Amino acid sequence: MQIIRSIKKMQVISRQLASKNKIGLVPTMGFLHEGHLSLIRKAKKLSDKVIVTIFVNPTQFAPNEDLSKYPRDEKGDIAKIKAAGGDIVFIPKRDSIYPDRFETYVNCEKITQTLEGESRPTHFRGVTTIVAKLFNIIRPDVAVFGQKDYQQVMVLKKMVVDLDYPIKMIIAPTVREKDGLAMSSRNKYFNAVQRKEAICLYQALKTAKQLVKSDNVNETIKLRNSMKRVIKKICPTAKVDYIAFTDFESLKITKKVNKNTICSLAVKLHGVRLIDNMKMG
Ligand code: AMP
Repeated sequence: MQIIRSIKKMQVISRQLASKNKIGLVPTMGFLHEGHLSLIRKAKKLSDKVIVTIFVNPTQFAPNEDLSKYPRDEKGDIAKIKAAGGDIVFIPKRDSIYPDRFETYVNCEKITQTLEGESRPTHFRGVTTIVAKLFNIIRPDVAVFGQKDYQQVMVLKKMVVDLDYPIKMIIAPTVREKDGLAMSSRNKYFNAVQRKEAICLYQALKTAKQLVKSDNVNETIKLRNSMKRVIKKICPTAKVDYIAFTDFESLKITKKVNKNTICSLAVKLHGVRLIDNMKMG
């Protein structure tokens, strides 16, 4: 497995590979867990050469967020990528991605206004900018993203259509811990007691789905109230940022659940902001 740190070298190698290989890309911010590795395995099935990127992207963090303490483990990540079947790890330097005079950003305008975008107004501009740069450097045929960050992948799909990238976008299912907590690099911030309370997001989503399926409840107002009760019961100090029911294609808010509805939520627990989602239909 090759480790590449220079943008120029990555461009040369991916152009060489492209003549004979289908290239799969898995962008990450590192501190890899089984969720990331499932994306690498999926990319391996869909392409000949898998390139995994590790870059903690400063432009998607607001000044008050956890950029400086975001967990890192480059050595461990490289070993995990190798074991999962990655062919190349691209670890660019921050200054080469964003040199001093950098001033060009990619911005998807509408679907970035709701949910995560409402709470984190500059977040998606950072995401679309870094992913566009990685697409330009690597020129993959396929790129794999997790459903865990559902709005993110929908924004990126929109960017691919709007900017004519010839890239197949794949959404891989959310990988969860045994108790249902969606795997996340940020779960590391919790102590044992807090970690147990972190299941409140998954439990709330499961409760809503149960109410839809078994009790035919479809008013989102009722579902949201039940979810809030579940969260408060499991973690009394939790702060719900949002619980939103939307169409899973357009991400438009819906008042009544139907077979195309996805529920997304963000909750702050013990200073850590977690997100999760589940299709209700
Ligand atoms: P991150 O390193 O958090 O930026 O995530 C890199 C990629 O891994 C994104 O496409 C995420 O959606 C995906 N990902 C993160 N957590 C999970 C998970 N638990 N299951 C599946 N994919 C995930």
